[in-house]
Amino acid sequence: MSTQELNRKFIEKYGESTEETRVFYAPGRVNLIGEHLDYNGGYVLPAALEFGTFLFVRPRSDSKVQFASTNLPYEASLDLSEIGNKSGEWIDYPVGVLVELAKKDLKLQHGYDLLFHGDIPNGSGLSSSASIEVVTAFAFLTLLGGDTDTVEIALLSQRVENQYVGVNSGIMDQFAVANGKRDHAILLMCDTLEYSLIPFVTGSYKLVIGNTNKKRGLVDSKYNERRSQCDEALAILKQEVPELSYLAELKPEQFEIHKDKITDETVRRRAKHVVEENQRVLDSVEVLKANNLKQFGQYMNDSHVSLRDLYEVSCLELDVMVEEAQKIPGTLGARMTGAGFGGCTVSLVHEDDVERFISEVGAAYTERTGLTGEFYVCGIGNGVEELKGAN
Ligand code: ADP
Ligand code: MG
Repeated sequence: MSTQELNRKFIEKYGESTEETRVFYAPGRVNLIGEHLDYNGGYVLPAALEFGTFLFVRPRSDSKVQFASTNLPYEASLDLSEIGNKSGEWIDYPVGVLVELAKKDLKLQHGYDLLFHGDIPNGSGLSSSASIEVVTAFAFLTLLGGDTDTVEIALLSQRVENQYVGVNSGIMDQFAVANGKRDHAILLMCDTLEYSLIPFVTGSYKLVIGNTNKKRGLVDSKYNERRSQCDEALAILKQEVPELSYLAELKPEQFEIHKDKITDETVRRRAKHVVEENQRVLDSVEVLKANNLKQFGQYMNDSHVSLRDLYEVSCLELDVMVEEAQKIPGTLGARMTGAGFGGCTVSLVHEDDVERFISEVGAAYTERTGLTGEFYVCGIGNGVEELKGAN
């Protein structure tokens, strides 16, 4: 839907007014490489996508804050005094942002009409939740004259997700959505928030995100098991390298020297993934700077093998989709993305082969798994911003 159409919808819903309607936008995100490194002191390399969440917002003269979305039927009209009552509905995301802003002494002084519209598939792992949080935070910080520092916005949005909505997640999603830039990936160290923008000009290549539509089960217990295996490996390696505070700080050469101290073969494989995946992120940065997409694609493939065989967080559906993706001649690389056990794959595919990719990978995926995959084609877009003159 174009912003003009959305503006018409806004007026249909809320009527005309002399007040100005302002339009804000935040993207979804995908992690390009660097999986299961955030809690191991390693780097991730996410990018903002070219689809996202729009927020149309206009002041009211009374004390009502009205929420509507083109994506979901639930609507609400809350008095300012009711902001902070949890509803269990999607409005908890924007309301949670308003609650966080109030803690910073940025309280609404009057009502607003809000209309959200997202073209990110919800619940597919492309972070529509981070997108709606970040767009709301940026919009109200702008409207209330607060500081629109995008790192702070990411942290505030993460608090909303963790504390208000109650979903335990790291900082990567909100960070990428807030700080993304067209034709750039974001090299991010999650615990220090040290980051830099890495040029990634996809040119005639597209990112094709494939949703396996596989329902994830038991992810939390497996996630916790991986974390404790990493802790175990770290404790052993620390005896050899006392200055080590995170597994990912170890270079692959150092790991080779000390790895035999880890007697449990499974734990050793987990650690090997962490050390090598972190090196792959750093190597990816170098090849992207040199615009060597072919080599980056190879690193994506290598990352998948490591997640499948060493870290063991893939599953049949992800493996099938990646394998079929790699059969398409225009595919430079393909891997699972996100925590694993289901969710999405990401592939780098020549634009001339995208159509073929979707039909052939889609058909083979269904034949081999009985599930129907979904595919989203996009480039790398900007982080959160106000769209001036969009309506
Ligand atoms: P993901 O972040 O992977 O897309 P989540 O389950 O974390 O999945 O977040 C999806 C939820 O975020 C939706 O169920 C809805 O509550 C909320 N949401 C995201 N985008 C919108 C939107 N455009 N309009 C209303 N709610 C939205
Ligand atoms: Mg989410």
